[in-house]
Amino acid sequence: AAPDGAGGAFDGLRLRGLTKSFAAFTAVDDLDLDVPTGSFFALLGPSGCGKTTTLRMVAGLETPTSGTITLGGEDITRARPYRRPVNTVFQNYALFPHLDIFENVAFGLRRRKQSDVKAKVEEMLELVELTSQAEKKPAMLSGGQQQRVALARALINQPQVLLLDEPLGALDLKLRRSMQLEIKRIQTEVGLTFIHVTHDQEEAMTMADTVAVMNAGVIEQMGAPDELYENPRTTFVANFLGQSNLIDGQIRNRSADLVTVDMHGIEISVPTDRVHAEGDRGWIGIRPEKVLIGEEGEALDAPGNTVPGGVITDVSFFGVSTQYLVRMPWGQELTVFEQNTGRRRIFRRGDRVELSWRPEYAFLLDHSQDAA
Ligand code: ATP
Repeated sequence: AAPDGAGGAFDGLRLRGLTKSFAAFTAVDDLDLDVPTGSFFALLGPSGCGKTTTLRMVAGLETPTSGTITLGGEDITRARPYRRPVNTVFQNYALFPHLDIFENVAFGLRRRKQSDVKAKVEEMLELVELTSQAEKKPAMLSGGQQQRVALARALINQPQVLLLDEPLGALDLKLRRSMQLEIKRIQTEVGLTFIHVTHDQEEAMTMADTVAVMNAGVIEQMGAPDELYENPRTTFVANFLGQSNLIDGQIRNRSADLVTVDMHGIEISVPTDRVHAEGDRGWIGIRPEKVLIGEEGEALDAPGNTVPGGVITDVSFFGVSTQYLVRMPWGQELTVFEQNTGRRRIFRRGDRVELSWRPEYAFLLDHSQDAA
């Protein structure tokens, strides 16, 4: 991929000011997005946030109200769907029931009167590990196998970009997990740009190298999965990507990369890379698995932030871990996940505990950054 900027144009998929309104309702609002060539990109967000509409505009199935779509430097905003080097895999597979698997995969090549159909189809069937199923009809295949046929049928057209619209939505959880790994393997093997639309945060995080979190028609944050998880910028992103404890606090002062925050009368440190003024209110965010739980007065191995005065209100034992709800002196219940290493005691309801965490594990959000 050519780097964007001096010396080379961006050769991936670029959306600029992309907007789609249905009457007075704006489904996609002034979207700017660069998807580098060869990346596995996920559009993640709740139902109705505009993911599918965005994908449909890229595919040419929906006309943008305004904005542009370019691919490899070429403006395709108004190009007809079949003129775009883009293919879509839908949730319902849309296979031809009367054709066998071989002919389903061969379909695009035959229509464009391509040569070497047999060799190309065989290569694709091998890629999706369905060589032995070539002569079966789609109805004889499992959901996961049918999904792989749909992938092969799209990939054989050698699109520059493959769009996947909730492709695993119809599969049960166990099959979803194995297909996630399968699609990831295929993407790595073919090296094409995949854009995967999903409302499942775990799916987006395990599959994609870059995730864009969408909410109400806009992208709230984009980045590598671990980056988004560890450093969410908004309460929406913090809550959508797993569980977080968000605790109200007031900025006291800052030193280098840390700010001191008054958290209900307890001074704690939180890392930040933004400028905060003394007196500003914010949310201190801490993930449940980053919190250590100990008996009151127990010196826990977490220099920095110790919060006494907690009372256990609920214990859920999951086997690999235990989840505690802990009522804090200011009335809020915080969630704590503890790995069951076998070394530590399990607390009971009513036990008095203290919580602590390393400052670098917390994040700070401005109240004003809340999504409307
Ligand atoms: P889901 O996961 O449920 O498909 P999504 O994030 O993909 O959600 P979209 O399908 O893009 O959301 O829809 C975004 C919003 O635009 C929704 O509120 C939807 O009702 C609205 N919308 C989509 N298509 C149309 C249409 N043709 N006419 C009117 N409103 C539409």
